[in-house]
Amino acid sequence: MRTRALALVLTLLVTGACASVDRAPVPRTSPPAAAAEPEAIRWVRDAAEYHAALYQVYRLATARVEADTRTREPGTWAVILDADETIINNVGYQIERSRLGLGFSPESWNAWVKRREATPLPGAAAFLARVRALGGKVAIVTNRFESECADTAAVFERHTLVYDAMLCRPDDGPSEKNTRFAAVAEGRSTASPNRLEIVAWLGDNIHDFPSLDQSVRAQGAPGFTDFGVRYFVVPNPMYGSWQ
Ligand SMILES: [Mg+2]
Repeated sequence: MRTRALALVLTLLVTGACASVDRAPVPRTSPPAAAAEPEAIRWVRDAAEYHAALYQVYRLATARVEADTRTREPGTWAVILDADETIINNVGYQIERSRLGLGFSPESWNAWVKRREATPLPGAAAFLARVRALGGKVAIVTNRFESECADTAAVFERHTLVYDAMLCRPDDGPSEKNTRFAAVAEGRSTASPNRLEIVAWLGDNIHDFPSLDQSVRAQGAPGFTDFGVRYFVVPNPMYGSWQ
């Protein structure tokens, strides 16, 4: 009996040792609490679908702009784009705030802008370059403040995100963009001193499109006829005027 028991113990030891080779080591202590970012932030940070959506939007916009400008004179037309979560990615800021259990604040946002750590979104740089190559002007209309414009321009320059005008929000001015859209169209921006036909708008917020707001939803399909034609929306589940 004693021999059989000894054999059993040895067998268990040997099989246990072999099995342990195939298994990942079990940590003795729990790993550091994985920061549980909200799903929306995780999706932007991790999802292949997010990048797919961006490439899809930018490819569609490129094809439409190519088709719509075939007969236009170079220098007579422009596209208008938002910056944050349309051309540049600020998910790093969202993660930092989330891990602190905090949300957006003007002070923390300004500090983030000054760090110049936003990164280009997939498809954006190629689109901007293509518009320029086709003879179009690129105007960025962003609600980053005028006092944050230089740091924003530096991010664009670092990542070769080309543009002709960047219209930031006056520090004491309204967030509405229609006035700045008009400035680009009427030749009152660095994009051109002449009138420009605006052939496309791109943004992640309904306010990035002329005269639209959340109430457009109530109109149903007729309210969205320009989307996929002249208006191109990039998904942003993290924040927006929908909140
Ligand atoms: Mg935006």
